[in-house]
Amino acid sequence: MHQDVERILLTEEEVAGTIQKLADRLNADYQDKEVLCVCVLKGSVIVYSDLVRKFTFPVTFDFLIASSYESSSVSSHILKIKKDLETDIKGKHVLIIEDIIDTGHTLFHLKNELLKREPASLKICTLLDKPSRREDPMEADYVGAVIPNEFVVGCGLDYDGRYRQFPYVGVLKRECYEK
Ligand code: 5GP
Ligand code: MG
Repeated sequence: MHQDVERILLTEEEVAGTIQKLADRLNADYQDKEVLCVCVLKGSVIVYSDLVRKFTFPVTFDFLIASSYESSSVSSHILKIKKDLETDIKGKHVLIIEDIIDTGHTLFHLKNELLKREPASLKICTLLDKPSRREDPMEADYVGAVIPNEFVVGCGLDYDGRYRQFPYVGVLKRECYEK
């Protein structure tokens, strides 16, 4: 375990088991539908590549970069799409693959934005969920693991760009972000 990690929440084996269970459910639900799998960069890249390799239904790939920020003028959150999808999703089955849902702001707004483009269906799959932090009404259709309100790294999740490559999900020591 890395010295900046306080404890491990999901071991490498537990992450693999969680991914397999998600894939089993998705394979049963989609069967032979073609699905556009959307990777929300950068954090989701590990979960995305682990998951899609387990899919037995036909898939196509696309990627976006999005974040949400608080706007005082409208006193709510605004979605910023830094890199949009290249695919026209109208009439397509779309699956957003995420690393974590925290306040729900990003996905709530992203989902509303993508729904305007009239996909045939739009589902959300996340490896991790922190429901105790939710501020927007946002539930994923597929949740790998519910975790407590702690700041985690690994499996794509970073602090200041670091720690993404850890094969486990670990709680970052407070002293690493409260300097
Ligand atoms: P939201 O609050 O909009 O649901 O999540 C926004 C983003 O915050 C997530 O996509 C993720 O990048 C980041 N985030 C939320 N919780 C954590 C966490 O525990 N660890 C890390 N590394 N990032 C998090
Ligand atoms: Mg994310």
